[in-house]
Amino acid sequence: MREIACDSIRDAVRLLFLEACTAPADGVTGLLADARQGETLPHAREILAQLIENNGIAQRERTPACQDTGMAVVFADIGQDAHVVGGFFGDAVEEGVRQAYADGYLRKSVLDPLTRKNTGDNTPAVIHERIVPGDRIKLWTLPKGFGSENMSRIAMLSPSAGVDGVMDFVVDCASGAGGSPCPPVFLGVGLGGTFESCAMLSKRQLLREVGACSPDPQLAEMEAELKRRINALGMGPMGMGGNTYCLEVRVGKEPTHIAALPVAVNFCCHMLRHAVAEL
Ligand code: SF4
Repeated sequence: MREIACDSIRDAVRLLFLEACTAPADGVTGLLADARQGETLPHAREILAQLIENNGIAQRERTPACQDTGMAVVFADIGQDAHVVGGFFGDAVEEGVRQAYADGYLRKSVLDPLTRKNTGDNTPAVIHERIVPGDRIKLWTLPKGFGSENMSRIAMLSPSAGVDGVMDFVVDCASGAGGSPCPPVFLGVGLGGTFESCAMLSKRQLLREVGACSPDPQLAEMEAELKRRINALGMGPMGMGGNTYCLEVRVGKEPTHIAALPVAVNFCCHMLRHAVAEL
């Protein structure tokens, strides 16, 4: 059994949120630059240039790249031989979020859904824990902006819808979202499971490294075809026209029930804000 102190979990979460809010994920700037090369419309090229410049300023000056610094989502793979000491894991994560949003002057966006009263410190975080083999804890932090989150959708399709039905649903989601999720976007797509696990699977796709297509040949083909079809709609950066609405589509699947074909689409805007560390 390996001991991991709550203080180190707290400090890691704090640093990861500060990093994720101020630096694009590895490879994102290259994708934006490539996309700019592929644009012919001057305003589309200009928008992409501004996004690259904005990300650069944020990274250089350690300042948030966007005013919406999101709701704090944390994925934690906890090794079954890791022993958390000095407190409770969840409390350590919440304190890390609290400190990051205070110290980084990040906007506090979390409130009661009905009274709309702000909690004041951007907690509670949304924490997804998973017990895995080993004695380490791997943490991913996602400051999830809601311009993109609000456009996310789930459908319990009929099994007869098949691959074509899945493809049409994802393309329709993008078409309906237009400029709202601040494109160009990354799309996480979940297939199968139950209602809630499918949504989770779609969000988990956003943790993938840039440029890493699915190892499953059929899913990799779907990813490429979805990106092609969505970009062919011509909505472009910020939904103002052009070739680049979608930078990547990532599809994951898991077994489901004989009576079901769940599909979930989670949007993430162009910085793909997330950071990862292992303790
Ligand atoms: S969707 Fe992304 S870029 Fe747009 S406001 Fe939200 S966090 Fe900012």
